[in-house]
Amino acid sequence: MTLLTFRFAPSPNGDLHLGHAYSALLNQKLAARADGRLLLRIEDIDTTRCTPQFEAGVLADLEWLGLGWEEPVRRQSEHFAEYQAVLERLVREELVYPAFMSRGEIRAFIADSEKRGRDWPRDPDGVPLYPAADKALPVKERQRRIAGNAPFAWRLDVDAALARVGKDLSWTEFADETLSATRSIEARPQDWGDVIVARRDIPTSYHLAVVMDDALQGVSHVVRGQDLFSATGVQRLLQQLLGLPQPAYFHHRLLLGPDGRKLSKSLGDTGLAALRHAGASPDDIRRMVGL
Ligand code: GLU
Repeated sequence: MTLLTFRFAPSPNGDLHLGHAYSALLNQKLAARADGRLLLRIEDIDTTRCTPQFEAGVLADLEWLGLGWEEPVRRQSEHFAEYQAVLERLVREELVYPAFMSRGEIRAFIADSEKRGRDWPRDPDGVPLYPAADKALPVKERQRRIAGNAPFAWRLDVDAALARVGKDLSWTEFADETLSATRSIEARPQDWGDVIVARRDIPTSYHLAVVMDDALQGVSHVVRGQDLFSATGVQRLLQQLLGLPQPAYFHHRLLLGPDGRKLSKSLGDTGLAALRHAGASPDDIRRMVGL
């Protein structure tokens, strides 16, 4: 029998708070119950916002909590060459294209279109979808702009990708206590439009790195917050395009702050380090998150 494998995958771009503790401890609980493995992955592809200081803080908080994970820890910033190779494959297969519009240009393009009475489609987070204009640029023009150092991002051509794999995509969401598959959910990657798959200077994005690493690390069960629920559709599409196995998913509830909003890394009083310094014990944290 293959071991079930879970992972906690924080981004070291701030301090951990109670919401992270809940996610980490839930992964720990489910891994222990299944006699499975627990991995820690540091998702630090954003080399401007992620710092060694934040990473040290994340590791210290998780050690203090008693999480316990297998070594070595996978640090995404150490694997850019692997992401680059896969990105090149997507470029060769014309499943991604260089997108040159700046935020301001996107806004202007959409405002112009909405002036003419058309509501512009938005993704599940409320962000307007990327206009299709760059998809139609002739190859020569793309090359000229790239050679001229124009800023761009590689975006997935979601229509081409769906044409390749077929629209019949779904993922399996399991029940917390039993780990058994309970429902199959239709993936709707098209709701996000042409998502960013890599940047000019960083050969990956969150979506690409997460599906590659979950596969490389043999992750069988992805346990993470409800805020990533609909992003799972994009990740299913990438798994399918790249021929990667599909893990089972559990999207857990989000802890809310006193104002009823999702906790954020800037909410000092729910920060794990602050709670620790105020005298809380790891057991207090478990109680606070309901585990
Ligand atoms: N690194 C992501 C975050 O901190 C989590 C990614 C995932 O669990 O798939 O929000």
